[in-house]
Amino acid sequence: MRRAFRLWSASAAVLASLITISAQPAPSTVALVIANGTVVTMDGARRVLAPGSVAIDGADIVAVDRPDVIAQRYQGRATIEAWGSVVMPGLINTHTHAPMVLFRGLADDLPLIEWLQQYIFPAEAKTVSPEFVRIGTRLAALEMIQSGTTTFADMYYFEEEIAKETKAAGLRAVLGQTIIQFPAPDAKTPADSLARTEAFVRAWHDDALITPAVAPHAMYTLDGPTLMASRDLARRYNVPTLIHLAETEAELKTAQERSKPSPVAYLDALGFLGPGVLAAHAVWVTEPEIAILKSRGVGVSHNPESNMKLASGTAPVPAYLKAGVAVGLGTDGAASNNDLDMFEAMRIASFLHKLQTGDPRAVPARAALEMATIGGARALGMDRRIGSLAPGKRADVIVVSMSSARQTPLYDPISHLVYTTHGDDVETTIVNGRILMRGRKVLTLDADAVLRDARLMSEKVKLAIR
Ligand SMILES: [Zn+2]
Repeated sequence: MRRAFRLWSASAAVLASLITISAQPAPSTVALVIANGTVVTMDGARRVLAPGSVAIDGADIVAVDRPDVIAQRYQGRATIEAWGSVVMPGLINTHTHAPMVLFRGLADDLPLIEWLQQYIFPAEAKTVSPEFVRIGTRLAALEMIQSGTTTFADMYYFEEEIAKETKAAGLRAVLGQTIIQFPAPDAKTPADSLARTEAFVRAWHDDALITPAVAPHAMYTLDGPTLMASRDLARRYNVPTLIHLAETEAELKTAQERSKPSPVAYLDALGFLGPGVLAAHAVWVTEPEIAILKSRGVGVSHNPESNMKLASGTAPVPAYLKAGVAVGLGTDGAASNNDLDMFEAMRIASFLHKLQTGDPRAVPARAALEMATIGGARALGMDRRIGSLAPGKRADVIVVSMSSARQTPLYDPISHLVYTTHGDDVETTIVNGRILMRGRKVLTLDADAVLRDARLMSEKVKLAIR
């Protein structure tokens, strides 16, 4: 009797476990699971899962959770084992001029105006062509994929060529066709630029990766009517407006010549400022003007390396953050940086403001990481789609090795991401669910060909500035 009972109870236990198993739905198949990493989500609660896994299907993140929970619910057709690495949102570079990587190191150690007028503008006038822009964009894309940037905001010429190359490389971008008052490589007059821009915006509207934008260069290189024609164009098509704003002290003088105390006051009086405007630099801005930028819904791209190298000044970033302005981080063009490494940008941003304010608590690691991810997404008006690892967002994800001597030991992944990590530590880069680099091998570009083409083009640049 006892024996029979034991048998019965044993089979009941088997039955019960069978019921439990069948009560759990079979794991659903997804395209990719990134498993067992330290997941730095940058989500609303700023969760860090150590360990954690991320399930990805199609272009989207399906789930972010503990590895056992993900394993129970999802089976990946492919798996990336991320033990010993950080899994985090791809970095967002909110201000660059991608093809200018071809001018990297061409002229250094000069103030902005001299650097622009004696080197960059003449070199651009003689060399910038659709071919130059294609070669430069491929080089920039290679560098960005290798260093964990998944989205960038660009202002340059022949932006349609940049769009094609960016899409082929698999990166996400907000691409602003430049409008400038003097003859440019791709347009003789501002009216030509505006027409080109409109055609570009129409051609790339609704693309999954490319957001077309209007990029009036700056208030000091454009008159009021052209600034407003640019802005109206962006408003008409509901696309972003990218502009350099208050980068150097000299720009204050231009504003004063136009009877306004500053560039911010000038643009505000024109009716230029509003949601959808991303202001690059915003260095020479007063406290009341920070309130104006905030109330108009303007985003700011902070570019500490470029500002330091050109000695332009220090943007009041702690005040922007305190005021709730959406601040992203940018490298600016490689000619004034001289690379596109957003890890370096984070570190320099944090250090610069500590030194400037005399307060080591200024721009802590967490704030720098926010600017490079969710803050950049907010500044670009894309925070519902990118900037953090959360279900329903696009799968723009990077896996960053934490195993080098430089990163050992590891107490706090966020500290390491900002204060010790280099772009070269990125192992895997995923954009819109597509793997662009895995195990340091870039899958969407022929790296050797990209470098060869860039070196060949540099010969033309050398001749141009002779
Ligand atoms: Zn710039």
